[in-house]
Amino acid sequence: MKLLIVGGVAGGASAAARARRLNEDVEIILFERGKYVSFANCGLPYYAGDVIKKRKDLLVQTPEGLRERFNIDVRVNNLVESIDKDKKQIKVKDLKTGKEYNEEYDHLILSPGAEPIVPPFEGADLDCVHTVRTIPDIDKIKEEVDSGKVKKAVVIGAGFIGLEMAENFRERGIETHLVEKMDQVMPPFDKDMAVMLHREIGRKDIRLHLNEEVVSIGEDKRGCIVKLKSGRNIEANMIIMAIGVRPEIDLAKDAGLEIGKRGIKTDNKMRTSEPSILAIGDAVDSEDPVTGAVRNVPLAGPAAKQALVAVNNIFGIEDKYEGTLGTSIVKVCNLTAAMTGASEKILKSSGKFFVNVYTHPADHVGYYPGATQMAMKVMFDTDSGVVLGAQIVGKNGVARRMDILAIAVKQKMTAKDLAELELCYAPPYGSSKDAVNLAGMTALNHLRDITRLVDWV
Ligand SMILES: Cc1cc2nc3c(=O)[nH]c(=O)nc-3n(C[C@H](O)[C@H](O)[C@H](O)COP(=O)(O)OP(=O)(O)OC[C@H]3O[C@@H](n4cnc5c(N)ncnc54)[C@H](O)[C@@H]3O)c2cc1C
Repeated sequence: MKLLIVGGVAGGASAAARARRLNEDVEIILFERGKYVSFANCGLPYYAGDVIKKRKDLLVQTPEGLRERFNIDVRVNNLVESIDKDKKQIKVKDLKTGKEYNEEYDHLILSPGAEPIVPPFEGADLDCVHTVRTIPDIDKIKEEVDSGKVKKAVVIGAGFIGLEMAENFRERGIETHLVEKMDQVMPPFDKDMAVMLHREIGRKDIRLHLNEEVVSIGEDKRGCIVKLKSGRNIEANMIIMAIGVRPEIDLAKDAGLEIGKRGIKTDNKMRTSEPSILAIGDAVDSEDPVTGAVRNVPLAGPAAKQALVAVNNIFGIEDKYEGTLGTSIVKVCNLTAAMTGASEKILKSSGKFFVNVYTHPADHVGYYPGATQMAMKVMFDTDSGVVLGAQIVGKNGVARRMDILAIAVKQKMTAKDLAELELCYAPPYGSSKDAVNLAGMTALNHLRDITRLVDWV
């Protein structure tokens, strides 16, 4: 059997390793148009901020490592240009030599990822404008920051990457402006939770410009000038474009594969409309298990899990991908924000009947030193009490609670289940009634008509 994989980072490298673990004899060729495979894209902002000090720590695997350890034919600097699904062959261009060649396959896995969106406004192509996706991207940014030339930076877009870049610039002593079109940071979160992040961003002296849009970028001898819709101009030596990503679907589209809402359409075995071609990662659409909606969620965990499902099915192990909850977490200065499942705004638009439960528990008992408060919001189905989604903002203990709530959403657990969960407890770590238990108990009191809940609006 011959397995070809397009894309050598999160999804592609996972798929290649899994395939080798399942079969010693299959021929595996991994094509990556860039110079690096299996690098830590999630760590890039922290390298710019000098939190991750050594560049080599970003390189989780090397082409040589994959070759030696897994006997995978890794072809970096090789761009897959097209797919002929009838002949079951791809056309590849070696970007170093310019030579083009064909390669046949029995199975093809596409994991081409998603590219940063760069809107076509004036000045978006200036040298001071950067995106953050690859090692060469961050090398350029880090080199300029290290040179001391970057005194002022503007980050456009306050999602995960924008927030991480803004924080890391501030860590380096750079005057940092964060510009966001919406009235809140972290668009997937509900605004009532995001406002706590606004305060923290301000405390860190990052200048937050909400409800603001960049209309163009100009340049003069002092540097670049970001022009905002409100008429305000911000001077900057460096601009980061982080307004979101677009799934890389061109290869699949040109091959005649079916495209979904935004990404490549697959079934739950990760097969595209052509069964010998599978697709995974940021480039594919997936189902939201809570609302049933189809969406594109660019996160590393789903890419790795889809890789497993795709390869299992190729090798005859029945496996299904059960959808993407969008469980995610981000560090925002001294706070952590995490979410899973549906937000209030998504639930409202999906027409579901639900109740929001807000609690403000401590991460561990108050009498043990260092306790800090979390803000928790958990959404429950009004009739069944099933957990539909959750968001937490706090200093400590956020990840542990969110992981439990992610399991609760996935397993369709109810308020009663949460209230009864037996979780580990000792004073430094939690409370005998853990934050998760308390959310369940509060919801139960409401669902049983014992207490009435009040929303903030
Ligand atoms: C700065 C940053 C921070 C992030 N932080 C987090 C985080 O904290 N948590 C989280 O869950 N996710 C995070 N992500 C998202 C996560 O990295 C992605 O969800 C994940 O990498 C997706 O894997 P993928 O295989 O689909 O795509 P990628 O990892 O992007 O890999 C796709 C690869 O395919 C190659 N390729 C594309 N087309 C071709 C072609 N035609 N021929 C050859 N090669 C091709 C590309 O060059 C690319 O290297 C972050 C992403 C970035 C950029």
